[in-house]
Amino acid sequence: MANYYNEQTILFLDGEYVAAKDAKVDLYSQSLHYGYSVFEGIRSYKTAAGTTKIFKEVEHFERLKHSAQSLNMPFPWKVEALIKATYEVLSRNGIHDAYIRPLVYAPANMSFAKNEVSHITIQAWEMAPFLGDKLLRIMTSSFQRPNPKGFKITAKASGHYVNSIMASQEAKSKGFDEALLTDMNGFVAEGPGANLFFEKDGKLFTPSTGNILPGITRATVLELCKEMDVEVEEKQCTMEELKSADAAFFCGTAAEIVGFESIDSYKFPKPWNRTISKVIQTNYKNLVTEKQGALV
Ligand code: PMP
Repeated sequence: MANYYNEQTILFLDGEYVAAKDAKVDLYSQSLHYGYSVFEGIRSYKTAAGTTKIFKEVEHFERLKHSAQSLNMPFPWKVEALIKATYEVLSRNGIHDAYIRPLVYAPANMSFAKNEVSHITIQAWEMAPFLGDKLLRIMTSSFQRPNPKGFKITAKASGHYVNSIMASQEAKSKGFDEALLTDMNGFVAEGPGANLFFEKDGKLFTPSTGNILPGITRATVLELCKEMDVEVEEKQCTMEELKSADAAFFCGTAAEIVGFESIDSYKFPKPWNRTISKVIQTNYKNLVTEKQGALV
């Protein structure tokens, strides 16, 4: 398990900077009992110039706001103020390459009624890429992603992650590195915490929105492809298409970009180092660290 905090760690809680070891949460919170909270996963990087930069901070805090509003949770904070608070958390903890976790949660409430207030905490810790940096052996999950008619699927809501936990645990218990979930109609959807792209004959494909969390890294990959003049198609993708692809990868803030070795018994045939996906992986790393120079 990662070490999230120690005696010295400072977090942001409802406008204050407090020691993580002293921070308290109400055990009667509606969030704890029902999974009714929303969060973000953000990264900051030490740039090539030596500064600390939170990648796509506006997009992440706007999504946090969108997630809260989608779930009818009060969100009285300004995005700019939350960004400022996040830089302050990084600075008070003396960390640069950080994984940042804002969480908006509910007060004590055992009913299903709306709340008048929300709480917010922003935490940060150092964390290596979530899924490692080796090519992944992926398993098609027996779990499907939540039905968009049952959940606000574009919200990053805590309760949705019970599905992610079940899928990931199943894959790992069967000896795989991670799961890939289909949507309720059996089309390829996403990983437990990352979006998917695959490559075939020099073109990229990714599941269209509607049944997935529209990731900020996914949007970044789409932008990179445009700049690189690589054709990408967003569509409903079948498992058969994925299992005839040359290469594939997961992308997400925590995972960054990580290639696949295989899915179930299908081994992706193209050596990773010769794929466009690998070039995108390099360009993504250069982008987040603001490394000067053209796209490779
Ligand atoms: N899908 C799911 C289910 C996720 O949890 C994440 C991580 N937030 C992503 C996709 C990727 O999103 P992003 O690129 O915004 O981190």
